[in-house]
Amino acid sequence: MEILKISENDFMSFLDKKIDEKAEKVIGVVKKGSHFVFNELESSDKLALDYDVTMLPPKKYFQPPKELLLKYKPGNPESYRAVNNCDPMAIVGIHYYDLAAIYMMDRAFSEGERDEHYMKKRDNSILVGLYPTKYFKYRFAKSVVRDQAYKVADLMMVKMNGDYVVEVVSEKGKDFIKGGNFIENTYTLQEIDDAKNKVKDDQKIPISVELIPDYLGKNHGHPVWEVFGEKCFSCGSCVLVCPTCYCFDVRDEVELNLEEGKRIRIWDGCMLEDFAVCADGHNFRKEKGQRFRHRIYRKGKHLPEKYHYFGCVGCGRCQYSCAADIAGPVKVIKYMEDNKQGGQNV
Ligand code: SF4
Ligand code: SF4
Repeated sequence: MEILKISENDFMSFLDKKIDEKAEKVIGVVKKGSHFVFNELESSDKLALDYDVTMLPPKKYFQPPKELLLKYKPGNPESYRAVNNCDPMAIVGIHYYDLAAIYMMDRAFSEGERDEHYMKKRDNSILVGLYPTKYFKYRFAKSVVRDQAYKVADLMMVKMNGDYVVEVVSEKGKDFIKGGNFIENTYTLQEIDDAKNKVKDDQKIPISVELIPDYLGKNHGHPVWEVFGEKCFSCGSCVLVCPTCYCFDVRDEVELNLEEGKRIRIWDGCMLEDFAVCADGHNFRKEKGQRFRHRIYRKGKHLPEKYHYFGCVGCGRCQYSCAADIAGPVKVIKYMEDNKQGGQNV
């Protein structure tokens, strides 16, 4: 893998050039009040790469919260037309755990039935990763993420003094940086590695992630589900901010004059009370504890069994956004460890 470097100032000039050229939308992290969000950039002035965490992960660009799928004229089967807005985009400054989540999303939307609405947006995107430069107290990514970021990133950046070291991961990434003042790297691999690991996580999952699917399977009846479920408000914040949650609902909206119809999909979440309501009104996860267990099982059992990676990337957003202070997987597993059934959980 080629490793280059560029000064911070030259990187900003490079981005301004990219924004002016308009070959693709340039998206980056900007400050919003006391938080950070991914947003389209009009210039590099607003770019805030020294951030702890963004409110929402970049998945919103590939699976928008509300997405138009097709338009039609009711009663006319010939009129159905798919709509897929997928302008080219480059997203700059994605932390490695959010890249790991995109890897999981890519697999979910491409294996089996390929989802063109998601995949075309991904095919038209360039992902520029960045190792975190700021501590976030709820993050535990180091204990759960392995090598996934490099499976989807086109470029990976590491901040070093006044420079960015840039690892060129893909051909797309190589093309993207053409014309910028990227020069030969002069830092040692040890120095780069140290910079990648400079920001520590205070939190970690207390048991090895490889053991968690089995661990959860054996703890289906653990009191944690009821205890934490009791405290849950069913607000759904934990699933809506999660970079590896991808559930959605599909609805048809028809104009009152019955001339035009559109099909949309919107984010949905398993922590919401009516998520598991079937056509006859039966709710197969009626109790809050059942929904709470299901969410943790998705992250720690079902997704790892399917994709061989832990289904949570340790971003900490769920714990941060939970008014009941219960949503974080670290918190859940710590509780289980502190309250072992019969002295042993596994
Ligand atoms: S479960 Fe929580 S910590 Fe894990 S990826 Fe989702 S939001 Fe982040
Ligand atoms: S954010 Fe907390 S309170 Fe809201 S649904 Fe998730 S676990 Fe329950």
